[in-house]
Amino acid sequence: MNKTTFSFELFPPKTEKAAENLWAALPDLVSLNPKFMTVTYGAGGTTKEGTSETINQIMGKYKIPVGSHLTFINSTKSDLRSYIDDLWNKNVRHIVALRGDMSKVLNWPLDQDSEYFQYTSDFVEGIKTWYPEMEISVGAYPEKHPDAPSMEADITALKDKCDAGATRAITQLFFENKDYYYFIEKCEKAGINTPIVPGLLPIHDFKGMCNFAKRCHARIPVHLYERFEPFVDKPEDAQKLAIQILMEQAEDLTKHGVEHIHFYTLNKSDITKNVVKTLFS
Ligand SMILES: Cc1cc2nc3c(=O)[nH]c(=O)nc-3n(C[C@H](O)[C@H](O)[C@H](O)COP(=O)(O)OP(=O)(O)OC[C@H]3O[C@@H](n4cnc5c(N)ncnc54)[C@H](O)[C@@H]3O)c2cc1C
Repeated sequence: MNKTTFSFELFPPKTEKAAENLWAALPDLVSLNPKFMTVTYGAGGTTKEGTSETINQIMGKYKIPVGSHLTFINSTKSDLRSYIDDLWNKNVRHIVALRGDMSKVLNWPLDQDSEYFQYTSDFVEGIKTWYPEMEISVGAYPEKHPDAPSMEADITALKDKCDAGATRAITQLFFENKDYYYFIEKCEKAGINTPIVPGLLPIHDFKGMCNFAKRCHARIPVHLYERFEPFVDKPEDAQKLAIQILMEQAEDLTKHGVEHIHFYTLNKSDITKNVVKTLFS
């Protein structure tokens, strides 16, 4: 049996229909026995209640650890602390600690201000001081974070986050495994020993995925356009292809010794379930 473990990212639903979709997908996702799940957080706290509520509901219904994403820009240290206190009191023991995308009113790098964290490594250090036992995941960028002047500078920033106490890094979505392998090699050379978990996106809707990937600055390889092109108006065939593509990517990663994969489920179970069941059970 394949020993690779896996985890799922979810987002807090904003409408009743979206909530129905999430709750319809959860039994399938939970039955696959993921190591953990995480719930995203709107930068600046826009989904604060939604994130916390979604986590509570999932942990109330299923015996599965769920972590909260949390972005620090636009939030004071004291606001972050009270959100984390609340999570801790509700038995949440995992935070995905992030800066968040820059808003139009802020410039990068952020000004120093003792009420706010400046870098994600400071945020990780802060959480570790408040809750030494908190598990912390951080973001990593195999194609470089768009704000970073170079890959080297970005890897230095990742090392700072790992040295500050991150349990693992989870990558931004990517479609070419060779980018991930190259990135891992560079991180190892830079002295990063923290696990860097690949984050994979199932392609539920090719056009929607293209928009999403562009927003994340993730490169879409030409072969994906070519492979999906014949199935523009054939959703069932497009889904079969999406399963095949995710399977190829995940299988290749496991063959290269990857021990854990994080799936960006977008609150849907169909494609992820197919791949996880085939490869990991
Ligand atoms: C797994 C994952 C989950 C995510 N979930 C969410 C979510 O729920 N909500 C949301 O709003 N966004 C989310 N994002 C997006 C994320 O907030 C953005 O990509 C954001 O722009 C960067 O956040 P970060 O903490 O990953 O990057 P950081 O590590 O903070 O890096 C951001 C930039 O700052 C630079 N930098 C960092 N430290 C230093 C330093 N000490 N000196 C100089 N430069 C430095 C880096 O090189 C990089 O260019 C997620 C991203 C990932 C990979």
